[in-house]
Amino acid sequence: MQNNEIKKIIIAGGGTAGWLAAALFATHIPKERLEVTLIESEEIGTIGVGESTIPPFLGLIRNLGINEQDFIQKCHASFKLGIKFDDWYKNGESYFHPFGQIGSNIGNTDFYNAWLFATQNGLDTPLQDFAPASVMARENRFMLPNRANGSPISNAAYALHLDAKLVAKYLRNHAEERGVKRVEGMIERVETHENGFVKSLITKRGETLDAEFFVDCTGFRALLIGKAIGVEYISWADELLCDRAIAVQTENISEPDAFTTSAAQDFGWRWQIPLQSRSGNGYVFASQFISDDEATAKLLSQVKGKPITDPMTVPFQSGMRKEIWAKNVLSLGLASGFIEPLESTAIHLVYRTLDFFFRYFPDKNCDEALARDFNRRIADDYIEIKDFIVAHYCLTMREDTEFWRWCKNQKISQSLSEKIEVFKKSAALRETGPEELFRAPSWYSIFEGMGVRPARYNFLADALDAKDLILFLNKISPELNDFIKTLPTLKQFIEKNCKA
Ligand SMILES: Cc1cc2nc3c(=O)[nH]c(=O)nc-3n(C[C@H](O)[C@H](O)[C@H](O)COP(=O)(O)OP(=O)(O)OC[C@H]3O[C@@H](n4cnc5c(N)ncnc54)[C@H](O)[C@@H]3O)c2cc1C
Repeated sequence: MQNNEIKKIIIAGGGTAGWLAAALFATHIPKERLEVTLIESEEIGTIGVGESTIPPFLGLIRNLGINEQDFIQKCHASFKLGIKFDDWYKNGESYFHPFGQIGSNIGNTDFYNAWLFATQNGLDTPLQDFAPASVMARENRFMLPNRANGSPISNAAYALHLDAKLVAKYLRNHAEERGVKRVEGMIERVETHENGFVKSLITKRGETLDAEFFVDCTGFRALLIGKAIGVEYISWADELLCDRAIAVQTENISEPDAFTTSAAQDFGWRWQIPLQSRSGNGYVFASQFISDDEATAKLLSQVKGKPITDPMTVPFQSGMRKEIWAKNVLSLGLASGFIEPLESTAIHLVYRTLDFFFRYFPDKNCDEALARDFNRRIADDYIEIKDFIVAHYCLTMREDTEFWRWCKNQKISQSLSEKIEVFKKSAALRETGPEELFRAPSWYSIFEGMGVRPARYNFLADALDAKDLILFLNKISPELNDFIKTLPTLKQFIEKNCKA
């Protein structure tokens, strides 16, 4: 071991972010090398609403050495093939954002441009009829794509809907079995050194917890990164108007959907996340247009199934810390930032941040150059996600409420505005970096769903023969559909393989 290594860290907070961090540290660094303590307060509890994930979450589970089937059963998880957006583009219209690929390259042309070329030559099959995840979701059928190698669904992908409280419990067991120490207690005060580094956490019972490095997972309270060392919060309220959510859980009354539903509302949107045992629901809204009581009434009038919890109000502000890592504090989860949960990206950002932090892992001095580069990189991820979310709003044709009129005319970032302009003119997708989270199929789906079609297709498609291409596409789409109809329904798949 080199001199000056960090040997002791404290994770403050035991929500999804805290226990995920604990599990990752414990899995990847031997306890003899790094002592990890987590402090949490049952009196405060966790937010417990992050229940929809994206495909990299499965990679995380594998990375932790967790058996996927066991995790699904114990977290009452169900499968998610994408998100269905109702009424976003126009009232009465829906579109689907699938996970995985849409078709496969044809010759040297990417599938979207080949499809665009075929469409301009008379094909009338919608883009999503070539996306295996979209067709599976529409038919409510499910099979693990990796179990169907060589079949028409092998390039689909999936994620999970899960019970947030059960996930925290599962990760806690995983972390404790690998040596993480848990302290139950309320942090009352944070002591700092003269150089501003955090020295210790003082609990209500008077205990002092010292460490060389701290991970702030205290949720919106942001006790260390915000309150103790004063890192500023950059708000994106001028780009994302929603600032509150009402959440309620309901009984399942029908077979669970294999997708998250995001239904646009007059002043925001409503989510429905079906798990094996119940559903999570919520209304994310702009409080300048509708009160908590009105939003609650609206949500309760739309949910399917009897509520099994009291509606909970969650105020939030989309934005991020100016520095996610400052001095000897790394912030994760809600303490580090939050973008409204339209594309279920928050849990992803927790492990994305940790993944990068492991690459930059500092010694006790926490060299500013490391933190600076790390912060730049994570900010890119936040901004990419923020732009992607804004694209769902600003491309709307709705003008029926003040909220939607604002969205239609809203100010957008230069990066998003250039992305839309380049796409409209050439069907090309402006790339922001090599490790983008939302790849071409995601942007194609949102653009197509929100009525944005490029003026021309990429010139490489001119090498294709339009008649042959249309014949081919008219053959593969029904084949995909017919194959999917032979698969088990989502419910049958779960009952056979991973019932809670
Ligand atoms: C409305 C809404 C919907 C969301 N939906 C999704 C989704 O679909 N998908 C997704 O990926 N993410 C979603 N998220 C985000 C997701 O919920 C969070 O990213 C995730 O739960 C992590 O939360 P956390 O651990 O940072 O905070 P919390 O769950 O709030 O945990 C904070 C922890 O800190 C502890 N703590 C706080 N103060 C003290 C103190 N003084 N002393 C001791 N302990 C303390 C608490 O006890 C708790 O253990 C959503 C968020 C919101 C607000």
